Amino acid sequence: MEPPAGFVERLTALCAVDSPTGDAAGLARSAALLSEWARADGLEAEVRETADGPLVVISTQGPAAERVLLIGHHDTVYPVGTAALRPVERRGELLLGPGVADMRGGLLVGLGALGRLARDPDPTHGRVELWIVPDEEGRLTEPSCLADWRDATRAICLECGRADGAIVTTRMAVTWLTLTAAGRDAHAGTERAVGRSALLALAREALRIEEEIHAARPGVQATITELHAGVGRNTVPGSATATIDVRALTLADLRWAVAAIGRFAEHDGIVLQRSDDPGFPPLDHAGPFAERALAVLAEVGAPAREALAAGASDGSWASSIGVPTIDGLGPIGGGDHGPDEWIDATSVGPRIEAVHRLCRG
Ligand SMILES: [Zn+2]
Repeated sequence: MEPPAGFVERLTALCAVDSPTGDAAGLARSAALLSEWARADGLEAEVRETADGPLVVISTQGPAAERVLLIGHHDTVYPVGTAALRPVERRGELLLGPGVADMRGGLLVGLGALGRLARDPDPTHGRVELWIVPDEEGRLTEPSCLADWRDATRAICLECGRADGAIVTTRMAVTWLTLTAAGRDAHAGTERAVGRSALLALAREALRIEEEIHAARPGVQATITELHAGVGRNTVPGSATATIDVRALTLADLRWAVAAIGRFAEHDGIVLQRSDDPGFPPLDHAGPFAERALAVLAEVGAPAREALAAGASDGSWASSIGVPTIDGLGPIGGGDHGPDEWIDATSVGPRIEAVHRLCRG
């Protein structure tokens, strides 16, 4: 099944723009394209200037009382120049190009679904809003517009579907901690005894964290990702830092793991500290809304599967304020942030139809 008319042309035009996080000119061009297409499709479009770049809000109003959010971002991770090197290319059933999966394809799925609502108004839908933020790839905090999402009935995040077609109905909570150790530098030969090795202290802590915290509760992951120490081949290393990637299924488990990581053993002459970054909340399973999404996917002939994702998205933030949220309703795709990023062109039509149906009451 081919994507609806115009989809490939729009995807090609959008992916011809480099819009890495923080690039004001690129994000302005991307926002202009999206809002122009929305107006051409009979939708309302507003471009709000924010400190992080242009935020695009595209909407349509139906008669029902509900308010449904579609969520996406128009920044990418690729540096300026990538678009010219890798224009969108068709290979069999796949479309390849920078940002096709993460997440320009998803934005166009949202636009397609809203366009259908506007063309063919239906008494069962209320206000439907597509929020396209400019800074998702570079942010470790909540989106600046989170308060605007507060009273929504439900939310659909349009990150790409998994390679097997699954949508994402649960995401893990995640945070990144920095551990610092301060000991004492000393000559490794003549004054070894007065040195206090911060490197050894953090290495022992790393082993403790792997042994005592990782997998101690179902779904808890603690991974030492960096360890830096040393000032020279003949010096006892008096300072060291480490980073830890921590993930959990619930916020309570994440907090437990963070607290446990901070309960350091005694290390003679070493002071240890742990940062306290709040990180991302989990995307909690939306129960009946997730079940309805799977039923709708089956109706439109798409795979009706759900998955747990270890990574966070802005869908996690929507869920954190109590809005029932599902994710992965963008095209089926993968290879995010890499040279072979792809979407399955045959998944686009069914995804647009599924999102369209899920926007209705
Ligand atoms: Zn993304």
